[in-house]
Amino acid sequence: MKRRSMIKSMGSVSLGIVAPSLSRAEKWVEPYETQKQNISTDILVVGGGTAGTIAAIQAGRTGAKTILIESGSQLGGCTTTGGVSFPGIFHAWGEQIISGIGWELVLDAVELNGDQLPDFSKIPKSHWKHQVAVNPAIYVMLAEEKCLEAGVEIRYYETPTMVTFENGKWLVESVGKGVKTLISAKQLIDCTGNALIASMAGYKVLRENETQPGSLVYSMEGYDSNHLDFSKIPKQYHKALHQNMLTSQIRKTGENTFVPYGYVYVYGADSTTSETHTKANQQGRQNLLKMIRELRELPGCENIRITSMKTETAVRETFRIDGLYKITKEDYVSGRLQEDALSYSFYPVDLHRNGQSIYQEFLKPNTVASIPMRALIPKNSENFLVAGRCLSSDRLANSALRVQASCMGMGQAAAVAASLSVEQGLTPAKIDPNLVKKRLKEYGAIVPS
Ligand SMILES: Cc1cc2nc3c(=O)[nH]c(=O)nc-3n(C[C@H](O)[C@H](O)[C@H](O)COP(=O)(O)OP(=O)(O)OC[C@H]3O[C@@H](n4cnc5c(N)ncnc54)[C@H](O)[C@@H]3O)c2cc1C
Repeated sequence: MKRRSMIKSMGSVSLGIVAPSLSRAEKWVEPYETQKQNISTDILVVGGGTAGTIAAIQAGRTGAKTILIESGSQLGGCTTTGGVSFPGIFHAWGEQIISGIGWELVLDAVELNGDQLPDFSKIPKSHWKHQVAVNPAIYVMLAEEKCLEAGVEIRYYETPTMVTFENGKWLVESVGKGVKTLISAKQLIDCTGNALIASMAGYKVLRENETQPGSLVYSMEGYDSNHLDFSKIPKQYHKALHQNMLTSQIRKTGENTFVPYGYVYVYGADSTTSETHTKANQQGRQNLLKMIRELRELPGCENIRITSMKTETAVRETFRIDGLYKITKEDYVSGRLQEDALSYSFYPVDLHRNGQSIYQEFLKPNTVASIPMRALIPKNSENFLVAGRCLSSDRLANSALRVQASCMGMGQAAAVAASLSVEQGLTPAKIDPNLVKKRLKEYGAIVPS
């Protein structure tokens, strides 16, 4: 008997005798082969986070064929998965300055959860009091529903591994669980927050050596407030304790501006690649574990327990594109209005620093910043836009522009620009900003004037 046929017959003997036989309902399946397919679309959005979700819904609503690739399992990014579930800021100096699809989603989430909006007619002492707390689970479901209603094809668990420009179109190889897809797209919008797709496409991206720390968001309970002795608790934990204890009191004011929110800092956190994000997640969880262990040894904290922890470390700052226009801090704080401004932005300059207090600079009364279309277009690019915190800006301007309402406004603006580019067969840099503004208004967005 030849060796190969002997092994084969031994295999069948051993299967028959040693392996349990199949029950009636069971059947053997062939070894899985990665499914490969080629598809095409008008607009491809990569990253279904704060900005990308809005971009995809807007792109779909214009009638453009739209695909959204998201490496996680749900939409919302920092707003949901990261635990920063209080988008801001949509109002400034007593007036609404950002509306459109982001605001629609926030309102729907507030209504469905039976929550209450802050009183926007009052100008608050603390800017964050005009942020709107949303239930992240509700937000995730509504965001997905709106994408599906707009005809967006969502592809979870996927990420681009190759981005090339051929014959005026983007070819993006996207890899996920058991699938490998080649997507041909007329327009590409990078909403990864990290400008990774812009970089893979060959456009320049930049960052400082030091970045703001990320945060792992959690909540805990079980304090014995009568026995808490802050003199015996290490200083670095005071803020965490105050944040968690105060939360319930803040909620009692009836203003929907805060959610249970405690976080541990993660220095150097970077979500750009799987490797860097894995490191940031591990570091966040180790920091939290250390804190819980130490706290439980202290008076009043013996019974402290974690009640929730986000599945990933939320990241404040990574890479930004080198765009046709770079928004500077002076532009931001002076409220400089450019002709191609598509959306407003309102927040203090807000830079979290390693080992120091947060650096903040507040806008003067009646000053509101804005976002020119050119800040969403990488230099020398074709058929490519970004939206979200990776827009072209200097570091201090970015520390304000990165907030969620601003990212949502950018997402909607980028999608309208991309859809007009598809219709006119032109690259976004050649689209008349006035046309973008007109269409944005038709879709309910507020355009700077
Ligand atoms: C701890 C913390 C506190 C903050 N506090 C506030 C606040 O009080 N108010 C406020 O308004 N803003 C706040 N911000 C800022 C704000 O939340 C973020 O800057 C904003 O949400 C960023 O939006 P984005 O769409 O650019 O990125 P994200 O929301 O991070 O979305 C990026 C999405 O892209 C996906 N993605 C990334 N890479 C890939 C890839 N290669 N392939 C496929 N998908 C990919 C991610 O999974 C994610 O879903 C805070 C941020 C942090 C981290």
